[in-house]
Amino acid sequence: MTWRTTVLTLFPEMFPGPLGVSLAGKALASGLWELEARDIRASATDKHRSVDDTPAGGGPGMVLRADVLAAAIDAADAGPDRPRLLMSPRGRPLTQSLVAELAEGPGPLIVCGRFEGVDQRVIEARNLQEVSIGDYVLSGGEIAAMALIDACVRLLPGVMGKQASGEDESFSEGLLEYPQYTRPPEFEGRPIPEILISGDHAKVAGWRRAEAEALTRTRRPDLWAARGGQKGTKSKTEG
Ligand code: SAM
Repeated sequence: MTWRTTVLTLFPEMFPGPLGVSLAGKALASGLWELEARDIRASATDKHRSVDDTPAGGGPGMVLRADVLAAAIDAADAGPDRPRLLMSPRGRPLTQSLVAELAEGPGPLIVCGRFEGVDQRVIEARNLQEVSIGDYVLSGGEIAAMALIDACVRLLPGVMGKQASGEDESFSEGLLEYPQYTRPPEFEGRPIPEILISGDHAKVAGWRRAEAEALTRTRRPDLWAARGGQKGTKSKTEG
């Protein structure tokens, strides 16, 4: 079954946007995944096609109406097995393990909020799982949804040229990735670390592991602690 995502948005014209180029775009064109962007406003019923209203209890801004959004979700007919997500700064943080979980499933229905957010009752009534892409506030959920979709799509079978490149990169084992080098052999007086051109695969693997551990320990003590803070070697690239 093809991985398929349905995005509910007030701005369907934003899609596929960046998802239509490069790795994700080629995979979309070749049918490795499917994207449907649906206009929430199509479910508005009044003559002004309004989707938002003032917050109950007062305060600034507008809130996406529960009835309109629920109708849009129902009309999308996602089926019972697909995760239903709401992009939201107060949601569960998007991590590589959540991405992997979503990539293994049938593909999510994703609601993109706007304004001050969405009426709480639709979150509960339609069982939306809130997902955040970081501790900052975007003006809408579309860019957050694109980040989530892009991260999932690159893990789908056949999308990445070499499947191994997904297994060895940042977060795959709770570690940041080791530093990468390519030509030229020397750049502005900086050579490539000798071990990487030694041809000794075991030593290269050991060096990369030590660098990944050291970088994680210094840059992301939270990730390091979550792995149990295993002993690592000091890195040349540690900052
Ligand atoms: N009033 C909300 C709050 O303080 O939590 C922020 C609403 S924001 C201006 C509008 C929409 O952008 C949200 O409903 C959500 O869909 C999306 N959004 C903003 N920041 C996000 C983030 N860090 N992760 C995921 N979605 C985000």
